[in-house]
Amino acid sequence: MTTRRLYYDDSYLREYDAQVVSCEKGVHRDGRPTFEVILDETAFYPTSGGQPHDLGRIDDAEVLDVRDDGEEIVHIVERGFQPGKVHGCLHWARRFDHMQQHTGQHLLSAIFQERFGLPTVSFHLGSEVSTIDLRGNEPSQAVLEGAERAANEVIFDDRPVTVRYGTAEKLAQLGVRKEVERTGILRAIEIEGVDLQPCGGTHLRKTSQIGVTLVRRCSKIRQDWRVEFVCGRRTERVAHADARLLREVAEKLNCASEDVAEAAGRAVSERDAHFKNAKAALLRLAEAEAELTLQREPAASGGLRVVTRFFQDEGDGEYLGAFATALAKAERTVALVGRSPCGHVFFAQHPAAGKDMKALLNQVMEEFGGKGGGTKDFTRGKLSDGQAVEKVLRRARAIVEGK
Ligand SMILES: [Zn+2]
Repeated sequence: MTTRRLYYDDSYLREYDAQVVSCEKGVHRDGRPTFEVILDETAFYPTSGGQPHDLGRIDDAEVLDVRDDGEEIVHIVERGFQPGKVHGCLHWARRFDHMQQHTGQHLLSAIFQERFGLPTVSFHLGSEVSTIDLRGNEPSQAVLEGAERAANEVIFDDRPVTVRYGTAEKLAQLGVRKEVERTGILRAIEIEGVDLQPCGGTHLRKTSQIGVTLVRRCSKIRQDWRVEFVCGRRTERVAHADARLLREVAEKLNCASEDVAEAAGRAVSERDAHFKNAKAALLRLAEAEAELTLQREPAASGGLRVVTRFFQDEGDGEYLGAFATALAKAERTVALVGRSPCGHVFFAQHPAAGKDMKALLNQVMEEFGGKGGGTKDFTRGKLSDGQAVEKVLRRARAIVEGK
């Protein structure tokens, strides 16, 4: 039996009485047992055409989901019903919000197409923001703002929004914006003087109830342009959230809200400059420390000099690398450097030392566990056990010295 869809002709109906046609056991998406109730008529909107389903109650049972099963509307509820009369009651704030977003979407889509030649290929009404995907050239900031302004003009104009029925031919004569292949009597939504398009969704009576629309951003999705927008109460919510975020950032940057972009730009370039300076200073420090170390470690007999250095602190790997590199600049020097607790080790050599740092690293990693890599003259690794560094350096030294 076909369910009569009360929302088709009265999208403002929040409460109604109906007869239970059937009630079967089912299972909800989250695994909990539910009941699937079909009524002779309903005001509950099922998920379809980009608009999410309604919530609410049937008698004292919560409606968890509403599904469109072709002819019938299936209400997923938390308890079962006997045949007889029931009372349905919609979660009105949710439904009205959907109506604000959906009518707003028709309006924006019409304006993007008519004024800017950008047809809507799909629409999604999310729980936070809604999106329309436009096909064509990338909409510039001026186009996005122009569409928003034009939509708000129509909203302030308080135009009537009406439901029209007719065959595809009749709607085509009336100038319907999107052609449909379905036959029989179709339903279409008209925003006076702006738009007529086939739609089974629930809509406002007047454009003024959209309140105001805000186009928030545009990003590329495959070949199309995804435009994010909000309408009605959501506009108020996101405007508040944006303002709060701006205040918080301004507080962190210690400036007025209107100076945030400039202050953030300054902070980033200062950070970059400090980073560059710190890196240069670290390099100079590594070179100076290497020089001091080398003065204390004379070349052994045979001309090969092996320098081992173990650090135990919270410093970073970069300094170790610079230090090992600086040591290995000295003639015939092999540098074995490591740090606990991070477990980083660096093996570097002056090419004339004639050893193989890669083979050396592979051998100790095999013996002690860890990973790394590099070249014949320079390798870096990280031990699985950060506390084994000192032992590893001793072992590496023994290998280099052939002991
Ligand atoms: Zn629609």
